This record gives sequence, structure tokens and C-alpha cells, in this order.
Amino acid sequence: MAESLENLSQCFLPQLVDQIFENHQKHVSGSQTKEEERGQLFYDLSRLLGEELVERSLHLLDSYSFVYYRAGGHRNLCVVELCKGTEVFRLLPRINYCKCDFFQSHVLQLPRGILYHDIPSCQQRYLEDWSEESRASYTCPHILSLRFHQLLKPSTEQVIKPDQLRQLYDEIFRD
Ligand SMILES: [Zn+2]
Repeated sequence: MAESLENLSQCFLPQLVDQIFENHQKHVSGSQTKEEERGQLFYDLSRLLGEELVERSLHLLDSYSFVYYRAGGHRNLCVVELCKGTEVFRLLPRINYCKCDFFQSHVLQLPRGILYHDIPSCQQRYLEDWSEESRASYTCPHILSLRFHQLLKPSTEQVIKPDQLRQLYDEIFRD
């Protein structure tokens, strides 16, 4: 029974994650303070996605800068850049896709080196600095940190030309 419940929650994981964020946004509980609400949000997500992923995503929230690129007339189309030094990750809000190593090995379950041919294929499949519990994950810390950022932090927007936005967009899916 426990196992079938677990399988069921895996099927509905995207909806469950959305629901947790939505509930938090709508202040469903009403009686909690802001700190209690946030604590509840992190607790609920930790139970669903793993404590390690939630903690690391929260850490990224403080150590990365988040820039939201939009084109004037297309308010809905947005590319977000997460930057720290020379490291850049481009994401689309609400799309569960990232080019990072973690996404490739722990989310897509691909051997490393398929997307990045310069990495020797004999390399360890899983990232050594993550615990075993995180080896099958629904999402990566960049994507989750973006969701936290959208919810908890003011966004820095840059309006760019539509063709520049298109270029950023295309780069996300180019290997
Ligand atoms: Zn990532």
C-alpha cells in the first residue's frame, strides 16, 4: 500500500508541486505568520522532493543573481538567467528543463557525456557531492530556486528586442 501510494504521488508530482506553491501564494491557511507559512512551504516541498534539493535550491536563491528577460510586446514570453560569476543557466519559467549536470544525470537519468561530449563517458554517472537519496529527482536546484525566486523575491526585469529574446530562447534547447 505504501508503495502504491508512493507511485501515485510520483505520477502527480508536477501537479502536487504546483499545488504547494499555489496554496502558499493564496495564504490558504490564513492563521499562520509569514515565517510559519514559509516553513510549511519548505517542509511540504522537502517531503515531496527531498530535503537536500530544497536546501540547495534555497542556497542558490542567495548566491545567484536572477534576471528576467522579456520582449516589450510579448509579456508572457520570458527567459530567466541565473548567474554566478561566469556560470550561467538559462531557464523558462514553468518548464522543467535545465542544461545542468544534475538535470541530465539525476532527473533524465542519462549517463553523463550524452549532452556534453567533452566529458569522458567513463565518468561516474551520479554527481559525487549529492547523497544517494537525490539520485532520482523530479527537478534540479536551478529550476526549484527559480520558483522560490518568483515567489519570494522581487524580480529584476530587462526588456530586450524580440529577436534577442528568441536567440536566448533557442540557446536553451541547443546542445
Ligand atoms: Zn539545473
